[in-house]
Amino acid sequence: MFKNEYLADLYNQVVKRNPGEPEFHQAVREVLESLEPVVEARPELITKGVMAELVEPERIIKFRVPWVDDQGNVQVNRGFRVQFNSAIGPYKGGLRFHPTVYEGIIKFLGFEQIFKNALTGLPIGGGKGGSDFDPKGKSDGEVMRFCQSFMTELSKYIGADTDVPAGDIGVGAREIGYMFGQYKRLRDEFTGVLTGKGLTYGGSLARKEATGFGLCYFTEAMLNDHSDSFKGKTVVVSGSGNVAIYACQKATTLGAKVIAMSDSNGCVVDENGIDLDAVKTIKEVKRGRISEYLEYHPEAKYMEDKDGSKNIWTVPCDIALPCATQNEINEASAKALIANGVMAVCEGANMPSTPEAIAAFQEAGILFGPAKAANAGGVATSALEMSQNSMRYSWTFDEVDAKLKGIMENIYANVAKAAASYGMEGNYAAGANIAGFLKVADSMMAFGVV
Ligand code: NDP
Repeated sequence: MFKNEYLADLYNQVVKRNPGEPEFHQAVREVLESLEPVVEARPELITKGVMAELVEPERIIKFRVPWVDDQGNVQVNRGFRVQFNSAIGPYKGGLRFHPTVYEGIIKFLGFEQIFKNALTGLPIGGGKGGSDFDPKGKSDGEVMRFCQSFMTELSKYIGADTDVPAGDIGVGAREIGYMFGQYKRLRDEFTGVLTGKGLTYGGSLARKEATGFGLCYFTEAMLNDHSDSFKGKTVVVSGSGNVAIYACQKATTLGAKVIAMSDSNGCVVDENGIDLDAVKTIKEVKRGRISEYLEYHPEAKYMEDKDGSKNIWTVPCDIALPCATQNEINEASAKALIANGVMAVCEGANMPSTPEAIAAFQEAGILFGPAKAANAGGVATSALEMSQNSMRYSWTFDEVDAKLKGIMENIYANVAKAAASYGMEGNYAAGANIAGFLKVADSMMAFGVV
């Protein structure tokens, strides 16, 4: 519920102007609600138009992506790039290839990206893109032809100093390689126009690991601040993609035992601790299903998700790391986690907890690390990849990893401080929105009405 009348009106206008886009409404509402005390203290944010400009993307690009499948049939998908806010640097944010992608999903992700990128302390603006193309079950040739067609259009709107996309759901090293190859061919230039690139053509060491590792560095900083740590804790990680795999790896290194992982069909529970080599073989090499884990460990348990259920949240744990997708923890799942004694929830995925779930965690006094802050390690390392590309130089794995750790510890400190300075100590969701927003807002104010 809004107390500030201007913000209430602004939110209603967003809903009216962007019909049928509930995820975007949800993301805007969450941010505007937590900015109420800031706007009350600084009314010029309203009179100078910053709030109204903030919720409107600078540019939306939407295009047809035609390609030919292995049977010779023409397929047509939709491509999107939302260039949301470039107040502090070139647009930066991933590309998502998933059948659920539509304009509202890309807008929600692009909006979140503005604050996340500002929190990293690096000069990057907010953007996001993608397509309703589903790479699952497609041959390499089909994925390549799709990526080439997608980049043929997208290449007109991006560049190393204007907009630098990266990966997200369904876009990993293979897809980035095909897109970079097509960009280079079309533009005849070798620049850092994409991040998450392969190591032989401008990629950064530790980028692949960065989101998952960063999530654990943030979580560890939050736990340390409460005189605790990962050591000896049981952890549940949803998903089994890029973020989930490296979160599992780092949590284990920090002394925790990860006992469950999942995909969109169900979850595996292994009380002996997840065998990450098996998961990597299934997901990174075979592109298979998490249920295949039982072929490696017949003693583990597999629970299939039916009718939208998310069984993984019924597995008792100390720490939950949602690393799959938006709104994967609803109120019922949050209550199940709380009843089973969870002490901390940190978001690896973007907006994985519904507003009701977040409220339940906060009411129960659970330590809650919001996505904007907790998963910012991926984009931060993408920005480090951009720096290395500009310098035409590469840092070692340990150098990048050390910078990532420092960035995540800083983010935690800034978020905790921002929450406390607006009287919301421990509310890291509000702290992340406020700290990210202030940096962007000050730049927008400096530019005047543009
Ligand atoms: P991947 O495609 O590598 O993995 C996604 C994982 O989530 C898969 O296990 C997938 O299962 C599961 N998943 C996807 N959609 C759904 C769904 N609708 N229901 C249940 N499970 C689902 O993606 P990433 O690991 O890169 O991304 C995961 C999350 O992290 C996303 O929210 C993304 O926006 C966020 N993120 C990613 C960053 C990065 O650097 N990659 C940076 C910051 C945030 P299945 O294979 O069955 O579809």
